[in-house]
Amino acid sequence: MGDSLMPVRHGRTTRDRAGVRPGRDPSQIQRRCDFTPGVAPPTRGSGSPDRSNMTGPHRLRPPRRWICPGPASSRSRASGMRRQAGSARGAARCAVMLLLLLPFASVPVAAETGVRLDGPRVQGGLLRGRVPPGSTVEYEGEAVRVSADGWFLVGFGRDAPPEAALVVIYPNGQSERQVLEVERREYDIQRIDGLPPSKVTPSEEDLARIRKEVRIVKQARKIDDLRTDFLSGFQWPVKGIISGVYGSQRILNGEPRRPHFGIDIAAPKGTQVVAPADGVVTLVHPDMYFSGGTMIVDHGHGLSSAFLHLSRILVDKGERVVQGQAIAEVGSTGRSTGSHLDWRINLFGRRLDPSLLVGPMPK
Ligand SMILES: [Zn+2]
Repeated sequence: MGDSLMPVRHGRTTRDRAGVRPGRDPSQIQRRCDFTPGVAPPTRGSGSPDRSNMTGPHRLRPPRRWICPGPASSRSRASGMRRQAGSARGAARCAVMLLLLLPFASVPVAAETGVRLDGPRVQGGLLRGRVPPGSTVEYEGEAVRVSADGWFLVGFGRDAPPEAALVVIYPNGQSERQVLEVERREYDIQRIDGLPPSKVTPSEEDLARIRKEVRIVKQARKIDDLRTDFLSGFQWPVKGIISGVYGSQRILNGEPRRPHFGIDIAAPKGTQVVAPADGVVTLVHPDMYFSGGTMIVDHGHGLSSAFLHLSRILVDKGERVVQGQAIAEVGSTGRSTGSHLDWRINLFGRRLDPSLLVGPMPK
């Protein structure tokens, strides 16, 4: 696998297709929802990473040195000739050794170092990385799970700062620090009217229920499983019209609320929802306050899919699912104004953009 490892490039990525979206037909802005309590939008993340010690690749171990015998000293005239002969032999041996080593000198640590990263370096993007087995990876100062064969995941949140630090320590002790440039996105503002007032400003009683449900969801998203099901890649869980996108700022019945973190796909009630990737079902709930029929599938390493507003769930908690398997049916349960699927992707608590994991919506 070593030959497949490529060095990280520092160059900027081009804007992803989902980075900017044109305004949409207001008639489509009806099938919306939210997974989270109605609270004022968070302030934009501020502060940039400390760059003072962000240096390029460096080696911790000095290169091995070959010591060749030096010229004869004048301490002993008697042994002078012998020493000179020995010195000449030593120099010749040294030259041979250098010649033998030369082909390897340019690749001193081949296959032991190198990190490969695939994915869009943009807010909401997920990167799939690979390092030589036995390496350790830190992202923004936190340890990242690395699989036995070197796979790891890194994600950029909705408001990720423009740079993120990735540190890899290779099995040979060499370490490498990369600064990943994260492209900024512009997000839409979405106005949704006609929601029941209780779903925009819940009562005290409802808030207690909401907090409990948020805890259940958070617990499911904390799971750090060593499975690498995400390697199966992702497909759309349902075909339909995209009626809501990731990151948009929402104004519900005229009140500013948290951004939308999923992708809404309008489809008739009862349409089959399939697993977008292999995984294990970690949460099944028939009726959450905001998200209605809700399900979470864990794809390993903290990466999970959530499916909201379901009318029916076809699998049980703990069940293993494979990509393309029917797992639920589309509905309009919870805070929703029409039948649609809200699909979300999380890397632990970090909310990512599902549309960046799949191609264009199939016709
Ligand atoms: Zn939604």
